[in-house]
Amino acid sequence: MENEILNQCPICKSQAWVIRVVDLYFALQGYKPEVLFKFSLSKTKKADLHKFLTPPIVERQLIWHILHPDILFGTVVSVLAVLTIFLFWDNRPWINNLYLVGLLAVTYLLLRKRLVSTFKNNQLMRSNLREEAARKADIWSSAFYCDQDGIVFIPEDNKTFTLSEFSSQLHFN
Ligand SMILES: [Zn+2]
Repeated sequence: MENEILNQCPICKSQAWVIRVVDLYFALQGYKPEVLFKFSLSKTKKADLHKFLTPPIVERQLIWHILHPDILFGTVVSVLAVLTIFLFWDNRPWINNLYLVGLLAVTYLLLRKRLVSTFKNNQLMRSNLREEAARKADIWSSAFYCDQDGIVFIPEDNKTFTLSEFSSQLHFN
């Protein structure tokens, strides 16, 4: 019941040509294509819709950007230590490896303050990006498309967008 009121287009005041953006997008991808039967969409129109209704991208992070520098450094040293024990125990060269570990430790301590502060800045930036991504995902998942008017609308705040406006909202800042 509530859903029926929700999906009324604010421009034509009708529900007849309205479909959830999520359903439309997946139908264009080939899942449940039967939801498209009531629309007469040309091939170009379908391609346009598919392009403009693409969901926002969730950014992937490289693992060494996510790990605290202390943990990264600890891991590198542990690997070196294990390698030293297993590979060079019988030979003298393991002594050289100890020097290397010592040198690394000193270098790390000298750079640590800067590395940690860069890490904290990045962490803050990532959390802002995450919030931004969540906001965009909310917009995408709550939007409806009206084929009569060729617009996208968000029922809760009564906003309407052209396809390209909708797309640029999700993919640029
Ligand atoms: Zn409409």
